[in-house]
Amino acid sequence: MRQSLVIANWKLNGNLKLVDDMVSALASARCSADVVICPPAPYLAALETATQRLNIEVGGQNCSVYSSGAYTGEIAAEMLAEVGCKYVLLGHSERRALFAEDDMLIAKKVQLAQQAGLTAVLCVGETLQQREAGKTLDVVKAQLSEVLNDVDFNRLVVAYEPVWAIGTGETATPEQAQEVHAAIRQYVATFNTDAASKLALLYGGSVKPENAEILFAQDDIDGGLIGGASLNTDQFLAICSAV
Ligand code: 13P
Repeated sequence: MRQSLVIANWKLNGNLKLVDDMVSALASARCSADVVICPPAPYLAALETATQRLNIEVGGQNCSVYSSGAYTGEIAAEMLAEVGCKYVLLGHSERRALFAEDDMLIAKKVQLAQQAGLTAVLCVGETLQQREAGKTLDVVKAQLSEVLNDVDFNRLVVAYEPVWAIGTGETATPEQAQEVHAAIRQYVATFNTDAASKLALLYGGSVKPENAEILFAQDDIDGGLIGGASLNTDQFLAICSAV
């Protein structure tokens, strides 16, 4: 039995009012999946306090590749753990594309996050150009391999987010998503068969209430990583209850 999981990635959005509104909405919701909210870092503590009596976890959107020192603006994995985070998103395509994060850097962050006791949510996915060139599986495997060489599988979740589906309104079809998810699970099995069968694999990229159920019904899709729709309480709740 694998973990079912829905993660909200607020990106650079939201405010204290959304923290309150989302927590109130989730408090009265029935949701069989585990729910994690990843707000911008300044809201982590408020969210953690507000969710203490609820079955909701809090996560960071990134962590530093350093543990401490003269690195102005950075946030260490241990600090996220200290304020109550259980998860951290790593390798998001926006970090890869806009902040030049490469697979080696991401692998190092995964290690630091796991050493701090966090579950690393490793994001992978191809661009439209890579998909059209038939390179999707090669790209995704290359993004995974650096991390899988030295990882704690008990503290790992993988999110497949095709770059062309992020924030575009264009979602991968359930078949396209399932094909890549199945390939990811098979590839993880070449490192650790048991871990592969237990690994939670999330789909992300324009998940909405209208498409969540059919996506989450696929054999190898265990939940979702939600951007835009996680900023709207009604939409996010509807997605959570679709698992
Ligand atoms: P959207 O749901 O807005 O497409 O974003 C997906 C995403 O990037 C989540 O990490």
